[in-house]
Amino acid sequence: NQIEEVNLIEIIREIMLMYEDFIQQKHVMVNTDWLKEEIVIKVDKDKIKQVLLNLIKNALESVNNNGKIDIKVGFTDENRVFFEITNDGPPIPPEIKEKLFTPFLTTKSNGTGLGLAICKKIIEEEHKGKIYLVKSDDTGTSFRFEIPTGEE
Ligand code: ADP
Ligand code: MG
Repeated sequence: NQIEEVNLIEIIREIMLMYEDFIQQKHVMVNTDWLKEEIVIKVDKDKIKQVLLNLIKNALESVNNNGKIDIKVGFTDENRVFFEITNDGPPIPPEIKEKLFTPFLTTKSNGTGLGLAICKKIIEEEHKGKIYLVKSDDTGTSFRFEIPTGEE
């Protein structure tokens, strides 16, 4: 487990490029909102990339055709970095909401149900952060994580 300086924005851009064709085919509009092109934190790069990939993949799988995704990155009052992703699409049913981060819980025919469980382990156990569902209603579904920047 290597801790290194990582530009979150660069990783997000890389992942969006990977999904470029999918985004075009589904006619998804992606809005991004961050203060600057370089938001650097000290983390395990591969693991944080895995988290971002899982959250972005989930949003793309659930977003409506012709729908939209919003991605925000910034700093909290406690000077932690946050990443928040919102997609429109059908709201998550209450019985699923309670178990989102449980391994093997999936509503997808080809899902593993491991994405969010892995995200939780990486963010909360390995980076002392928090990950949670912000909302899931008629206006959309938002997931958010916050982690320390790794600087004192
Ligand atoms: P998987 O994607 O393999 O199903 P995840 O752990 O990534 O496993 O997600 C678990 C479940 O949480 C999904 O099957 C889906 O029901 C729900 N979910 C996750 N992200 C979203 C989202 N952005 N919008 C709606 N539902 C979601
Ligand atoms: Mg998933």
